[in-house]
Order: sequence, then structure tokens, then C-alpha cells
Amino acid sequence: MRIGKKLQKFLLLTVAFFFAATLLINVTNFHNYFGINRADTAVKVVALSYDDGPYPPYTNQLLDVLDRYQVKATFFEIGRNIEKHPEIVKTIAARGNELANHSYSHKDMMFKPREYLLSEIAKTDKLLLELGVKQESISFRPPWGRRFVVLSYLVSQMHKKLIMWDVDSHDYEKKLTVEDIANRVIDNVRSGSIVVMHDGGGDRSKTVAATEIIVKNLRSKGYEFKTVSELLK
Ligand SMILES: [Zn+2]
Repeated sequence: MRIGKKLQKFLLLTVAFFFAATLLINVTNFHNYFGINRADTAVKVVALSYDDGPYPPYTNQLLDVLDRYQVKATFFEIGRNIEKHPEIVKTIAARGNELANHSYSHKDMMFKPREYLLSEIAKTDKLLLELGVKQESISFRPPWGRRFVVLSYLVSQMHKKLIMWDVDSHDYEKKLTVEDIANRVIDNVRSGSIVVMHDGGGDRSKTVAATEIIVKNLRSKGYEFKTVSELLK
């Protein structure tokens, strides 16, 4: 009899679990819950994104390259860097690029208390808004893309998009040459791709040079460049 009851309880819990899981998948658009990697499209569009800025002189150099080819990109900014270089943030926006949130202090956001996660996101949003960033919703990308259920849940509660990538340039690997970085992107991009590169966190001259090669090459193949938000529209 006892085993029977245990079995009953087990079955009930199993059914409840699947019911809850199905509900979660449908209600939360679950496949995007842990981040959007690319746009689902057959059109030749791609979004270049840059993390860890604003960071002179590389962000400025990058903006010049992007302007030369009339490409708009998305910049995932660190709050601490925004405080140091607010004028660069204004320039990024003034030139028609998208600004996004990459936390305040760029520390690992896995397994951190809810209050900490909220303040990391809110502080950077506030800085961007104070600088006049006018966007319906400021997207978020966690440091190193590391996230867990709680962070994903909070981001969705804040009505933000959690943006990841499907093409990693590996521009943070010191041993890679400009051509290595460019080829990594060129060889892996497909319609709707989101590319991650870095304009901050160290010497990014290789990223600046690689960007020019990437833009020229992909454009010759018929790709159009969009900001992440435009790409996902
Ligand atoms: Zn980062």
C-alpha cells in the first residue's frame, strides 16, 4: 500500500512537471529564454556587435571604419566604462549605432543574488538613458555570455532581450592575427548571424583592422549590416 502511494505521488509529480514545462515553453518563448543567437531569416543580413567598451582609442577607430562603409553596429557597454568615457557613448549614438547593456562592472553573473543582478543591469541602463539614449528597450548581454535561469528570468521580467551570438570572432585570443579574426567571422556568418567582437578590454587594433576586412568581404557577398534590434525586427 505504501509503495502504491509513493508510485501515485511520483506519477502525479511527473505529470505536474511536464505540464509546468510545457506551460513554461509556451508562455516564455523558451527557445529565446536563454538568449537570442541569431535572427531566423533567409535574407542576407548580419549584425556586428562589440563588447566591453567604450574604450579609447579603439572604439573611436572602429566608429571611423564603420562610418567609412556606412555600417551600423551594436555596442554592448560596461557601465564603469560609460562613466569614464561618456562622450564616446554619445558619439556612438550620434552616428546611428545601437547601444546596449553589458552589466555595470563586468563580473561573472552566474549564481549571484537577485539584487546584485538587478542593480548591475539597472545602473548601466540609467547611465545610457542619462546620456540620451532613446531606444524602446535596451538589450542586455551578460559578461562572457554566462547566464543561468535566474538571470534569464530577470532580464525577461525587465522586458529586455537577452542577446548572445552565433559567430564568435575570438578576437580576445592574443595569438590570432587580423586575418585569423576576419576569416573566423567570414567563414561562419550566415543569414541572420550575430557576430561578437570587442572594442574594449585591451589592445583592440586587430579588431579594428579585421572589421574593415569583414565588412568589405561580406558586402561583396551581398550581405547587409543591421543593428541587433533591426536584425530581430
Ligand atoms: Zn564582455
